[in-house]
Amino acid sequence: MCGIVGYIGNSNCVNFILNGLKHLEYRGYDSAGIAIAEKNSVKIFKKCGRLKELENLIKNVNLEESCCGIGHTRWATHGKPNDLNSHPHKKNNVTIVHNGIIENYEKIKEKLEEKKYKFKSQTDSEVVAALIDSYYENSPVDAIINAAKGIKGSYALGIIFKDKKDTIYAVKKNSPLIIGIGQNENFLASDIPAIISKTKKYIVLEKNEIAILKKDSVEILDFNKNKIEKEILTVNWDVEEAEKKGFPHYMLKEIFEQPESIKRCFEKILSNDNLKLEIENMEDENIKKIKKIHIIACGTAMHAGLIGKHLIESFVRIPVEVDFASEFRYKNPILNKDDLVILISQSGETADTLAALQIAKKQKIFTLSIVNVVASSIARQADSVIYTSSGPEIAVASTKAFTSQIAVLATLTLKFAKIFGKLQKESLIEYCRILNDMPKIIEKVLKLDDEILKYAKTIYKKKDVFFIGRELDYCLALESSLKLKEISYIHSE
Ligand code: GLU
Repeated sequence: MCGIVGYIGNSNCVNFILNGLKHLEYRGYDSAGIAIAEKNSVKIFKKCGRLKELENLIKNVNLEESCCGIGHTRWATHGKPNDLNSHPHKKNNVTIVHNGIIENYEKIKEKLEEKKYKFKSQTDSEVVAALIDSYYENSPVDAIINAAKGIKGSYALGIIFKDKKDTIYAVKKNSPLIIGIGQNENFLASDIPAIISKTKKYIVLEKNEIAILKKDSVEILDFNKNKIEKEILTVNWDVEEAEKKGFPHYMLKEIFEQPESIKRCFEKILSNDNLKLEIENMEDENIKKIKKIHIIACGTAMHAGLIGKHLIESFVRIPVEVDFASEFRYKNPILNKDDLVILISQSGETADTLAALQIAKKQKIFTLSIVNVVASSIARQADSVIYTSSGPEIAVASTKAFTSQIAVLATLTLKFAKIFGKLQKESLIEYCRILNDMPKIIEKVLKLDDEILKYAKTIYKKKDVFFIGRELDYCLALESSLKLKEISYIHSE
């Protein structure tokens, strides 16, 4: 992951881009850079290290006021993190920022070298800048389409052409990119937190779509140059939610948001003592036919899946297989027509999970996604989606999104158990009530924060793995607040 931010409008682009990149820091990066379209040239500033280094670099330069620019935080895949390999990359007319990996860049590079292109960096991205330039005569769109057709891999690209400095172009395949819609200004970004200070209206760019951003218009084309009418979506959370709200870091803030996020999640799928959950495009009759469930996810979401397996198998008695999406997509999975594939992803953009979804769809297996980010790729491409409604999760270590995923899986289990006749009415009511109590119980646990911290300090050793320590905190909190017995602790020396 890395970050892309672009601005075109009437204001100076630099501040917005730097601020936007700051809001994408959570995605991880090793270098940062910015390209600014000035009257006679496109100027590039880039620096290995934190954003502060880039800010310091720019601070000492006399810049023209520029209303068009693109910025980037890099997570190196090809070539080590250094100033030269940082983005943006420029070749003659074309300046780009790239997020992703170009798998066939070596072959393309050889061909371009024959055409006398010279390369300064070791990146795959510089090759893309040269490839677009090699196709550029006077139509940026043609150059982008021709280049994109020759590229294998994943990419989100922000592009500025030297002689078209009133426009930012963008194109994507399997790396996220959104367009923010403003008043006489438009924005490009990898994720919503980068644009939310300016606008809540956005468009999600899909695979093989080109965006043409001017200050007062946004046009989306397919690779046949047909105009695509895109839905303009509205962010349903506020700018403050993407801030730390006085917490020392996002993870702690998000841990404390769990009662609220689970409450919000249940509001849509549970009533006081009954289920509200509807699975769009899947009738109860079809649910009854399910013989096997595959839960596919990565990282923390996969762990939510393991809990889901335990719940579904115990209550519904349908076998559930849980797979890492990265394993599933390469293993030629055995799927049968009455299987259900559940995909779990916070962002809804997890590349391996998205690829797994496409495999299941190709085999005409019903796909149900459990996703946090509204209208993300997995949410849109799956046959049905249940949103976790956790609000933005910025910390890389998942907390509130994870617990909401479990909340959804628990509710889904009850729904299936009901349909399969495995749950008496009274039991269903009882379980719904228990689930509805969860936010209060979590609140109670979180109130033990100070006590937990005190205790943690007495057992903390430098070599302890942080997340093991954190699980221990939860165990202790649960033990004393809920009077649970026989909790075993994992504690590494
Ligand atoms: N593959 C590119 C590079 O190594 C882009 C990496 C990224 O997504 O930041 O520069």
